[in-house]
Amino acid sequence: MKKVVFFSVVCISLSASAQDKDPRLTEVWKPEPRVVTPGKTAASAPSDAIILFNGKNLDEWQARDGKAAKWKLEDDAMTVAKGAGEIKTKKSFGDCQLHIEWRSPAEVKGEGQGRGNSGIFLMGLYELQVLDSYNNRTYSNGQVGSIYKQLPPLVNASRKPGEWQTYDIIFTAPQFNKDSSLKSQARITVLHNGVLVQNNASIWGATQYIGIATNDVHSEKAPLVLQDHGDAVSFRNIWIREL
Ligand code: MG
Repeated sequence: MKKVVFFSVVCISLSASAQDKDPRLTEVWKPEPRVVTPGKTAASAPSDAIILFNGKNLDEWQARDGKAAKWKLEDDAMTVAKGAGEIKTKKSFGDCQLHIEWRSPAEVKGEGQGRGNSGIFLMGLYELQVLDSYNNRTYSNGQVGSIYKQLPPLVNASRKPGEWQTYDIIFTAPQFNKDSSLKSQARITVLHNGVLVQNNASIWGATQYIGIATNDVHSEKAPLVLQDHGDAVSFRNIWIREL
């Protein structure tokens, strides 16, 4: 028994010393990460991004019923138009990195959930809240940066109403088993104006206004939806990278 112990100690020290001498043993060369040309700034689209909105047209968007999106287009931004309803992308997405800029109206009207409310529904189901939460208290899991009615943001990184704000989002779609049961929850990381507000957080399920989040099986990809909550929230510079 003693001999075996001695032998293995020698082997471990031999392989350890070989590694000490040859740095190549710990190098990984394949696969080689493909080249992506970054944008001029962190806010501009890198070379492999799909541009969802560049301020010029609503070509990538449609209304809920598949007809033309009727949001207002002006000043390189699109704005929720009264009664136009939500809009959704023509393309579908699952795991993604999403950059989106938004602005709540400069003229402050209403309070709580009634001030600069919109939302970004990943896969059309999971709402990252958009709200003017600058000096505007509401329930914590309904303020800006929250996963609505689920996860409060880590902090409130709001800019003043009327100022452009950014969301940088990393989203992992949920997975389902063959029997339609939930295999793994959706996860989300969100930077609000460059500040971390959701840190690889597990989303409970599809957003519900009343009651508990649900986890009905759905496809691997689905359109991104922007909410019409009756407030004139604007959006610009929207790009997405599929992961
Ligand atoms: Mg909302």
